[in-house]
Amino acid sequence: MFALISISSSQRIKITEKGFDFLQNPDSASELMEWVRGETIGYGSFGTVNLVLPKTGFRKSPLMAVKCCETGNSASLENEKQVLDQLGSSPQIIRCFGDDYSVESRGKFYNLFLEYADKGSLADHVKRNGGRLVESDVKRFVKSILRGLNFVHSKGFVHCDVKLQNVLLFGNGDVKLADFGLAKRNGGKQGRFEIRGTPLNIAPESVNGNVYDFPVDIWAVGCVFVEMFTGKPAWNLKPGTNIADLLIKIGVGDELPEIPRELSEEGKDFLGKCFSKDPNKRWTGEMLLDHPFMAADDDETTVPFPSTSSQCCSEEFSVSPRCPFDFSDWVSTDESISREDPSVVSSALDRIREFAFDEAPNWGVSGSWISLR
Ligand code: ATP
Repeated sequence: MFALISISSSQRIKITEKGFDFLQNPDSASELMEWVRGETIGYGSFGTVNLVLPKTGFRKSPLMAVKCCETGNSASLENEKQVLDQLGSSPQIIRCFGDDYSVESRGKFYNLFLEYADKGSLADHVKRNGGRLVESDVKRFVKSILRGLNFVHSKGFVHCDVKLQNVLLFGNGDVKLADFGLAKRNGGKQGRFEIRGTPLNIAPESVNGNVYDFPVDIWAVGCVFVEMFTGKPAWNLKPGTNIADLLIKIGVGDELPEIPRELSEEGKDFLGKCFSKDPNKRWTGEMLLDHPFMAADDDETTVPFPSTSSQCCSEEFSVSPRCPFDFSDWVSTDESISREDPSVVSSALDRIREFAFDEAPNWGVSGSWISLR
């Protein structure tokens, strides 16, 4: 049983065979129902995520999920609503049912209604499976994430916060991208030096140039790939590493996240394409979906979320021919400039040092633009 918290406003929801919708002009009382806030199923930096339950009737199964926050702090949630509306529907994107305001004893809240992912997040799934997944499962999830991103990019948006917590799972096997609170239109440069998304998955060009375009999502796909496969963040951080150390590691020099040795050759090559320091040479979602690593037809399993207990070791794959977009020998323009002109390196370092602050780092922070001055 869930604890029910009544709220003062009534939302009007129409239950249909396909799901639930908000009524624009409700005229049939039988179609209407009131909802109550149910169990809390997640927390983000914006606020909380709760189940939405029908207020009356026998059916007490969740109707949907509601993300909510106080109205004074709702910019990120409102951005999420706008982006989801503009994106439209896709099998790999969480569906949005609408938004609303409610006046409760604790204040005035903004509510964003989303379809409920009954299997939780991919982060939960990885944890349930002992902290890491076998290569075939990683491949399947990466493929779904890429399909979702491909759709998002085709509509001109960048997600900007790709991480395991923002990939949601459904009992029927669906895998969907969620949390579009930081999503933005592709292009343009941010004025201030800020971090969008979790610092652990941030791309080099975001650190060096404050750039958040399509390729940043691909870099983050590489990070979640490694995290799923190894059970650890893509960057191997020594204890005591602070946020400035991490950003220097990502932005300056040639170091890249380590590619797991146990991975198949295709997997290693795929990751290499995600971890190109130069965003212009990083592969696009479309290109990666055509990569030989994605080609193996072993992901369309009928079992939604197979349990995985042990890490797979060096699977044998035949080496497929490379496609014409193999940029492995290219040298990053940024890197070559940096090598020739030490002032570029020092200015990047100076900029990163501006990020340094005394408090303990919060690696998971990603709910809003963070100004680190
Ligand atoms: P942050 O805002 O800091 O990035 P976050 O990404 O974890 O945090 P949310 O997307 O906003 O924040 O959601 C928090 C958690 O709530 C998710 O990780 C997930 O576990 C759960 N959650 C969010 N939306 C849904 C949903 N539609 N169905 C089921 N669970 C959800």
